[in-house]
Amino acid sequence: MQDKLSIYVHLPFCVRKCLYCDFVSGVGNENTMGSYVNKLLDEIDSFIGDKDEKLKVDTIFFGGGTPSVLPAFMIDKILCKLKSVFAVDEDGEISIEVNPGTSDKEKLDAYRKMGINRLSIGLQSTWDEELRTLGRIHTYKEFLEVYKWAREAGFTNINVDLMSALPGQSKESYEETLMRVTALGPEHISAYSLIVEEGTPFGEMELNLPDEDTEREMYEMTRDILADAGYVRYEISNYAKAGYECRHNVGYWTGKEYLGFGVAAASYFQGKRWKNQDNRDAYLIKGAQREEEIVLSLEDKMSEFMFLGLRMSKGVSAKRFYEGFGKTPDSVFGEAIERHIKNGLLKEEGDALFLTSKGTDLANYVMSDFILDENNR
Ligand code: SF4
Repeated sequence: MQDKLSIYVHLPFCVRKCLYCDFVSGVGNENTMGSYVNKLLDEIDSFIGDKDEKLKVDTIFFGGGTPSVLPAFMIDKILCKLKSVFAVDEDGEISIEVNPGTSDKEKLDAYRKMGINRLSIGLQSTWDEELRTLGRIHTYKEFLEVYKWAREAGFTNINVDLMSALPGQSKESYEETLMRVTALGPEHISAYSLIVEEGTPFGEMELNLPDEDTEREMYEMTRDILADAGYVRYEISNYAKAGYECRHNVGYWTGKEYLGFGVAAASYFQGKRWKNQDNRDAYLIKGAQREEEIVLSLEDKMSEFMFLGLRMSKGVSAKRFYEGFGKTPDSVFGEAIERHIKNGLLKEEGDALFLTSKGTDLANYVMSDFILDENNR
C-alpha cells in the first residue's frame, strides 16, 4: 500500500535484566557485541530485494535490549551498512532506544552526528524506589542528565517511556511522575501498564500490585494529564505533541511493510510475514535463521488492517480499505461494525471508523471481532 519501507534493528544487550522483562536481551561484553554486529551486517548485506534499484526506506528504529549499551561506533557501522544497501530518505526518521545509565554526552553527540534524529528514553518512573523494584539500573537523576545532554546534542524529537500499575506504586506517585515528565516537555510519551509475564522473575514473585480500580484510575489520569499538557493520544498507549507521532510505529499500525534485522526481529514484506529465531547464541553462531514464513491471505490482511488501524485514534479509512482490498469494511465486517456502533464502542465519521473513548478502554474486546477465522471467512 505504501512504497517506502521501515527497518527495525534488534540489539539484544542490557547491563542486566529488569525483573519484569521478557524481551530477547541479555548481558554481553564488547567482544560479543562486536560479533553480533558482524552477523547483523552480514544479514543486512544478504538482503536482496527483487528490484534493480535500492529499496526506499523512510524510518529506521534501533530497539532492544538497550541499544545504547553498544559503543556508538557499532551503531554507526550498522547505520552505514543500511544506507549502503537501502535508499534511506534524507529526512527519514531514525530512532534509537536509550537507557539512562548507558549513555553519556559523547554518545549522544555521536548519535546526532551519524544522523539519528529521534531518541526514545526508557525512564518508566521518576521514583528511585519504584525503579529499584523494577530492577532498572538507573536513577531519576541519571535520566535528567541524559535528557539534558540529549537536548544539548540537538535532539528535538524525544520520547519518554513510562509505566503504570507498578508494585508499590500509588496514584499520587504516578501522578507526580506524569507531572514531572510533562514539565520537561518531551515531544512524545509512551505510557503502558505493567504486564506481569510468566517466565520473568516478577512472574514468580508475590507483588504488591495496585488493585483494578486504582489501575483504571491511573489509566484515566494518564489520558487527562497528558491531554492538559498538550499531548494528543494518537494510539492506545502513545501520546505526542502535534506532528511528533512516531512515524515508525504508525507504519506498523497502518499496514506498511517493514524489515527486521537481528535476533527475534520480525518482518512483513511482499505479503509475507516472518521472524528470525529468538536465540541470541544461535544467531551469534549461525547468523539469521528465519522461523516459519507465513504468506498472508486476503482475509488475514483485511483483519490486520482493521485491528491494527483501530489502535490509532483516527481509526481506519474506508477509502484506504477499498483501495487495498476492493471491498468496503461494511461488506466484510458489517455485523461487528454495526454491533459496536450500537453499543457505543465504535463510531463512524465521514470516511473514518474509530474506537470511542469507551471502546478504547475495551479495545481488545472490540478488536477480537475483526479477526476472520476459518468459520467466518
Ligand atoms: S532495559 Fe529493557 S530490554 Fe533491557 S532488561 Fe530492562 S526492560 Fe528488558
